[in-house]
Amino acid sequence: MDVKIGVLALQGDVAEHIAAFQRALDTIPDVRGSVVEVREAAQIPSLDAIAIPGGESTTISRLIEKNRMHEALTGFSGGIFATCAGMVLMAHRVEDPRIRPLGLIDMDVDRNAFGRQRESFEADISIRGLDAPFHAVFIRAPVVRSVGPAVTVLAAVDHGIVAVSQGKHMALSFHPELGGDLRLHRLFLEGLGIA
Ligand code: GLN
Repeated sequence: MDVKIGVLALQGDVAEHIAAFQRALDTIPDVRGSVVEVREAAQIPSLDAIAIPGGESTTISRLIEKNRMHEALTGFSGGIFATCAGMVLMAHRVEDPRIRPLGLIDMDVDRNAFGRQRESFEADISIRGLDAPFHAVFIRAPVVRSVGPAVTVLAAVDHGIVAVSQGKHMALSFHPELGGDLRLHRLFLEGLGIA
C-alpha cells in the first residue's frame, strides 16, 4: 500500500513531525510511505493524512488564511493528526479572536492553559488505546474544556482533557513527535486503516 502523509509546513516543529511519521510508516509491513511538507492547498486532496504541528496557533492560523488553505483543510477527507497549536486549530471554539479554527473536532480549547508556572513540563499519562503510560512533553500547552458527543476523550490530567479523537482525526495537547515513542502515530494510522 502507498501512503502519503503531509505535514503542514507553515510554522512550527515541522521537521520533527516529518521524521516521526516517516519512522512510524517504516515500521508497518507492506506500506510504502512518504511524508511531505504541505504549503499549498492544491497538495491537500492527494494526501492520506495531514499533521498539524505545534508552534504558534495564531501564526499558523494567519498563514492558513494567507495561503488560502482553510477550505482545503476543512474539506479534507483523510485524517488529521494535530498536536499542541494544531489541537487549537482543530477546535470548534477558541476564545482568541486572532484564530479562525477549522472546526473539525467538536471541542472548546483554551490556549496556554497550564499557566506560567507550568509552561513546560513532562508527565507519564494514561491514554485510552495504549496499554502502558505515555511520556508526554507539554510546552505552553492547550487544554480541552468541553467536548461534544462525537468526541472520544483519550487522556486527561488534573487541568483537563489533553487528548481526543473524532472520526479519523486525533488531537493532542502534548508533543508525541518528540521523544521517539511512536505508539500514538501508529494508533492514528490504525484509525485510518493503514497500520
Ligand atoms: N501556546 C501555543 C499556541 O497556542 C502552542 C504551543 C505549542 O504548540 N507548543 O499556539
